[in-house]
This record gives sequence, C-alpha cells and structure tokens, in this order.
Amino acid sequence: MEELEVPQVLTIAGTDSGGGAGIQADMKTMQERHVFSTCVVVAVTAQNTLGVLDVEVMPKRIIDHQFQALAEDFDIQVSKTGMLANTAVVETVVENYQKYDLGPLVVDPVMIAKGGAKLLSEDAIDAVRTKLIPLAYLITPNLPEAEKLAEMEIKNNQDVRSAARKLRQLGAKNVLIKGGHFSDQPESRDYVLFENGKEMELTGPRFETENTHGTGDTISSVIVSELAKGAELKEALQVGKAFINAAISNGIKVGHGHGPLNHWV
Ligand code: PLP
Repeated sequence: MEELEVPQVLTIAGTDSGGGAGIQADMKTMQERHVFSTCVVVAVTAQNTLGVLDVEVMPKRIIDHQFQALAEDFDIQVSKTGMLANTAVVETVVENYQKYDLGPLVVDPVMIAKGGAKLLSEDAIDAVRTKLIPLAYLITPNLPEAEKLAEMEIKNNQDVRSAARKLRQLGAKNVLIKGGHFSDQPESRDYVLFENGKEMELTGPRFETENTHGTGDTISSVIVSELAKGAELKEALQVGKAFINAAISNGIKVGHGHGPLNHWV
C-alpha cells in the first residue's frame, strides 16, 4: 500500500490539562492543519479555564531524552517553543535545538497566562533575549511580551515598530507583534517585520468574548503547520490570522472561565 508523506512538526512547551492552551492546543491545531505533530514536554501544568493550580518543571534528563528520541526517528520540518518555565529549561532547549536538525524555529515567548499565572520566571527573560531569540526564524510576542523583550514601553503603533526592530537586532529573523492588546482600538492589529525589512499588518475584528484561552499557542501552531506544508511566511501568517478570527468568533461553551477557541471552523 502506498504511504502518505506528511509534514512533521515539533512543539516544545508546557501542557495544559484543560486542553485549551499549551501543548494540547498546539497539537490539536497542527492536527487540524494536516501536519503530524510531535512534542517535547518541558513542564506540566494543572490547569483549567479558571486558572493554573500547579506547575511541575521537567528535569533536564527527560527533556534531553525527548529531543533525542525525536531526532533519532523523525524528520522534523519546523519547530516551535511555547511555555519554557525558567532559565534552566531555556538553556536546555537552546542546547538541544543547536544539537539536532529541527528546521526553522518559531518562538512564542509565553510569559503570563490570561489568568495571571507566571509561565516564565522573570530571570529567564534574559536567557530568552540573548540565547533563544538569536535562533528564531520568527518570534511572536504579544504587546506585554514585546515590551519585556525589547525593554521599552509600547504606547502606540510607532513604538510597536521600534520594538520589532529591537527584536530583529537581538537576532530574530522575522517578527510578529500581536497587538490585540490595544484595547482602545476597534480592530485587532498585528504588526509584522520581515527579514528583508518589509512590513505588513494583519487586521481583524475585535470580539467581545472571554473565550480567548490559548490564542497565542494556536496562531503560532497554524503558522508552523503552514510553513511545514511549504507556504511562504507571509501566507502562513495570513492563514494564522484568519484561523484565529474564525476560532474566536465562533466560541464554544467549555469550562467556567476563559474558554478555549473553537477549532472546528
Ligand atoms: N498554559 C500553557 C501551558 C501555555 O503554554 C499557555 C500559552 O500561552 C497558556 C497557558 C496561556 O493561556 P492563555 O491564552 O489563557 O494566556
């Protein structure tokens, strides 16, 4: 029987027992985008739509072995990082990504969950800036994350552009700053700065909804999947934005807090 060739991707992140964010959101999204997903679990969270109850960070040994197991058997085309918890994990991930051939890296620099839980310790931000960002093909911060990484306040669109330039100077090839957090604007606007200096805006309606849990994980997973299927970055970003718009606007009723996105759109 003829076997189907499927693009293979990797998510390096923390789990969400509630299934709406983290590795679960990544792998569900990748499945929907028709790529084969693998994972390196760096932390386990006890979590639901109301918040994070507990976090356990994985020991270096098991993180290293997950990378080794994948590298020995799979042909990973594109990888992404999500929640990385602390400096030791960031350093372990950097080490392993440099050791193996895992394709271009999309860095979603997850810091704080919507419920307020810290998913990256404050002292690890420096390791992300100096060690992880230089490896990034694309970095996808939201506004608060971009402020921390670029070490500047972002008050308007001009600041967004300056922050993106700073992230490029830190070594990221391409930058997507998710601007959905400007709550005074009628639209959700994301800013893209490409490797060649070109810019792009991704716009969409702003929805009045609590069901946005896992939005960052989901958009970066769509982008990874589209890249693995051979899309140009510009197209992958546009598909990602359209997917998120549809997934937020057709909310589903799951849990009693910040509900997950509707992926069946
Ligand atoms: N939990 C984990 C493990 C995550 O990786 C993420 C990703 O951003 C979140 C929670 C954040 O969820 P939220 O979209 O509610 O901020």
